[in-house]
Amino acid sequence: MSELFGPGDGASQSVDWSSLCPYCDGELPEHPSTVLKELRTAVDARSQLHPNSGLSLNPLHRRTTPVTVSLSYCERHDFETTTLRVAEKSHWPADIDFNSLPRRLVEHCASFEELIEDPSSSDFYLDVLRSLERFSSGIAGDLASFEKTGTGYYGYAGKAVILWSLTEMLDLDIIDSIHSIPTPVFLERVLIPEAAVLLIQEDLGLTREQALATKEKSLSYGSILFPEDDTINPRDVRRIVRNLQVADF
Ligand SMILES: [Zn+2]
Repeated sequence: MSELFGPGDGASQSVDWSSLCPYCDGELPEHPSTVLKELRTAVDARSQLHPNSGLSLNPLHRRTTPVTVSLSYCERHDFETTTLRVAEKSHWPADIDFNSLPRRLVEHCASFEELIEDPSSSDFYLDVLRSLERFSSGIAGDLASFEKTGTGYYGYAGKAVILWSLTEMLDLDIIDSIHSIPTPVFLERVLIPEAAVLLIQEDLGLTREQALATKEKSLSYGSILFPEDDTINPRDVRRIVRNLQVADF
């Protein structure tokens, strides 16, 4: 451990260098996640202590070759210091019980059926209509933004569970269409974002407007914290929904 302590000088004594990243001198989170710790171990194994290099006053400064080795570590610690602070203040969940999502959505089955029947009150649906109008008038490009179609802090893992829950619950056929919109598009652009808004509203006790804003703001948080998850099996999700619906009869 002794190599962790450089010679030090007057300037370094007032700074707690161990709270800073030895690669970029950025601030490190007080409570690093397991992922961050693992990334750090991996980068440390591919770097050497390099104090007094002229690049940094940090006596714990480390050098990697190539410098890009530390990029993902630095991205992640930046996320854990800045984005997570916002998340904590806004009460975005750090853990999500994805197993509870099918049940929560099944409880709202009637609302989703009404939404399919008459989607005219959904901003997401109106947005799809605008896209289709643009398309038919020859304006190139589909302006559906990632923020709009995303599921906020539920991330990609949540999106997958929502997708398969809704598909089973509403008995959707992907080769079908809903109000002349291909079903996969209607799912992606209307039903999934509406489900995310509903769940966020319930989680945090927000108004619809607040939940819409939270969904957009928490998108990058969700995609980093809950990326695609190979353990989520569409067949399992669909079976859970089927069982819930049978039990409701
Ligand atoms: Zn860094």
